[in-house]
Amino acid sequence: MGKRAIISDIHGNFEALTAVLADIEAQGISEIYCLGDVIGYGPNPRECIDVCREFALTLLGNHDNGALFDPEGFSSGAERAIFWTRSQLEQTEHEGAKERWDFLASLPRTHREGDFMFVHGSPRSPLNEYVFPEDVYNQRKIERIFGFIQKYCFQGHTHVPGVFTENFRFYSPSEISNTYTLGEQKLMINVGSVGQPRDSDPRGSYVILDGNEVEFRRVEYDPAPTRQKILGISELDDFLGDRLLEGR
Ligand code: ZN
Repeated sequence: MGKRAIISDIHGNFEALTAVLADIEAQGISEIYCLGDVIGYGPNPRECIDVCREFALTLLGNHDNGALFDPEGFSSGAERAIFWTRSQLEQTEHEGAKERWDFLASLPRTHREGDFMFVHGSPRSPLNEYVFPEDVYNQRKIERIFGFIQKYCFQGHTHVPGVFTENFRFYSPSEISNTYTLGEQKLMINVGSVGQPRDSDPRGSYVILDGNEVEFRRVEYDPAPTRQKILGISELDDFLGDRLLEGR
């Protein structure tokens, strides 16, 4: 596989997406894979979808799916955000409404490429299953999930970046100096979130895959304007803006 950037969970945060794309471009990378949740929570769903249409791959996330169909299993705040997001995409006075809708509806749930698998949630349940760092203490869950992986799996969904090993370890990027070398072991690699990080670091998260080397990167941006937009939209909870300042 050639050198590529793997991003996830943009969640309609155009400012964070713009900053991450600038960092990717500065690394000389043009091939971008997105693991889903382009929309939901954030104030700029249309703009983010239009950017993702240029990527080599975009997967379907649970929020993308919720906007397309009926949202199920979301908190009331998330559900309200999904209905608002859907209303933004349905407004036909915005040019390209049908193309955006068709694009979302065309997104695959998984992608395989040799030893590599790409999903939004988990290899067992690509759309909805969370694999949290503390799940390494649930050996049965981790074993079962690894049973669905040939070798390496990239994922998002939790908004918490890091590496899961087959022998029940989780390494946050800071524990491994932001790099990991792919070897014999099966791995799951969570790339974190561009638009709503939840590991107490508000900077946008993504990963570069270059041969056997995985690099975790963080990109600083100013979340204040994104937060202001969210505060100005009554259907989006203020918390969705406030959390961007702290990465929670
Ligand atoms: Zn998400």
